[in-house]
Amino acid sequence: MREMGQKIGRLLGGLGVDPALWADGSMPSVTPLTGEEVGRVRVADAAVIDERLERATAAFRSWRHVPPPRRGELVRLWGEELRAAKDDLAQLVTIEAGKIASEGAGEVQEMIDICDFAVGLSRQLYGLTIATERPGHRMMEQWHPLGVVGVISAFNFPVAVWAWNAALALVCGNSVVWKPSEKTPLTALAVQAIFDRAVARFGDAPEGLAQLLIGGREVGEALVDDPRVALVSATGSTRMGRAVAPRIAARFARAILELGGNNGAIVAPSADLDLALRGIAFGAMGTAGQRCTTTRRLFVHDSIYEGFVGRLKAAYASVAVGNPLEGEVLVGPLIDRAAFEAMEAALSAARAAGGVVFGGERVCEGASYYVKPALVEMPSQTGPVLEETFAPILYVMRYDDLDAAIGQHNAVGAGLSSAIFTRDLTEAERFLAASGSDCGIANVNLGTSGAEIGGAFGGEKETGGGRESGSDAWRAYMRRATNTINYSDALPLAQGVSFEIE
Ligand code: NAD
Repeated sequence: MREMGQKIGRLLGGLGVDPALWADGSMPSVTPLTGEEVGRVRVADAAVIDERLERATAAFRSWRHVPPPRRGELVRLWGEELRAAKDDLAQLVTIEAGKIASEGAGEVQEMIDICDFAVGLSRQLYGLTIATERPGHRMMEQWHPLGVVGVISAFNFPVAVWAWNAALALVCGNSVVWKPSEKTPLTALAVQAIFDRAVARFGDAPEGLAQLLIGGREVGEALVDDPRVALVSATGSTRMGRAVAPRIAARFARAILELGGNNGAIVAPSADLDLALRGIAFGAMGTAGQRCTTTRRLFVHDSIYEGFVGRLKAAYASVAVGNPLEGEVLVGPLIDRAAFEAMEAALSAARAAGGVVFGGERVCEGASYYVKPALVEMPSQTGPVLEETFAPILYVMRYDDLDAAIGQHNAVGAGLSSAIFTRDLTEAERFLAASGSDCGIANVNLGTSGAEIGGAFGGEKETGGGRESGSDAWRAYMRRATNTINYSDALPLAQGVSFEIE
């Protein structure tokens, strides 16, 4: 306990976090590595929430006038600060979220990548000039800053999701208020301290441009309901999305919803099976099955089923599970006891539905929850296979007809990520076609997880429909104004309408 606490203290201190912020609050932070408490943070009460939203509103009113490339300069400095802090922040991610070292570092790299992307974007926030039917007129669209952006994030990407949102929101001229997961408040404090260093170097950013609100669901609800928040970007379970979506809609605010996934992959007979094995092993076991894009369902063609699933089981049997601080492991812990219990419940339900479970045992005692990833051969897609269980469970099923397999693939509520492994061009194209995968992400010959920031990220159906990160996702953080300018002496009406007054 003391050793972990000291390590956290050194990391937070090195990143410039005031000890008063994490040493004596009412909300504990527990590391899943050992189940020990490593900090206590203060929860934002109604007065603090109100004060920060007031500041965020004032910050927006001033920041929106700053030219976008200058706004990009702040994000460039933030990226520099992140580069300098990368190793320490990555270790914090490992301690608070349980990720193995390379995944912790990868998550911080994702923050750096989106900063680079957003700096370029700050010179590319362009609208269209549109052909008009009226002589002597010009029609165009402009993209204006939107307002205060409220970000609610999940425990499993404790720093990157914030950066995806904040980097775009800031270059788009908005202020940002972040409610991180109650399971990862210390990394959030560190991220805020790193951002504040960039603000100090920038010089004249308005106070309150990016702020933190620590707390649980009630703090999230305050952001969801507050009319000062123009856009709520909420990442988490579909259950959370069902709760927040109607509330945001009731006040006609904007929402970006990034919710649960139940991601499937198909292994076709022509696939490069070595490559498929690696892609599926990382997708299904990486991050201990706690990614929104984790591979949870696998459809393997009958003709290769026995051999391929046998190799997969061997990979499952040999994967190193353990504390990422204590050795070269590939699978760290589940986040907490509730996650372990959900995994146990899903495995029992799978057995009851005729599933044969390989792996899935807990491999430790005490207050941490390390499990062997589970591979479950299912007779059909029923029961727990239809839902996301946020743990390393891969349900494996046979198929003999690709169209039927695509139909099964699409027959779940979530629609986030998907993959096919094939060297047959027609199969790959069928999977990517309009009648193919119904997900926001569809890959060929790579797994369902590990997206890069250049593409728009998000999914359909119960995943919520939101898009973040690359491509033109920035448009969700701005408001569009269509402008028509008449430079003639006449006033022709559109559609030939006549309205002559004396
Ligand atoms: P969660 O839904 O329990 O919590 C997510 C966040 O929402 C937390 O900050 C929580 O405090 C807040 N919250 C919960 N209920 C709320 C409410 N009623 N009003 C306002 N805020 C509320 O999710 P989690 O366990 O932290 O994360 C795992 C889930 O997140 C998985 O379902 C995973 O698939 C999903 N996820 C999705 C994406 C994506 O981009 N689609 C990315 C990461 C995680």
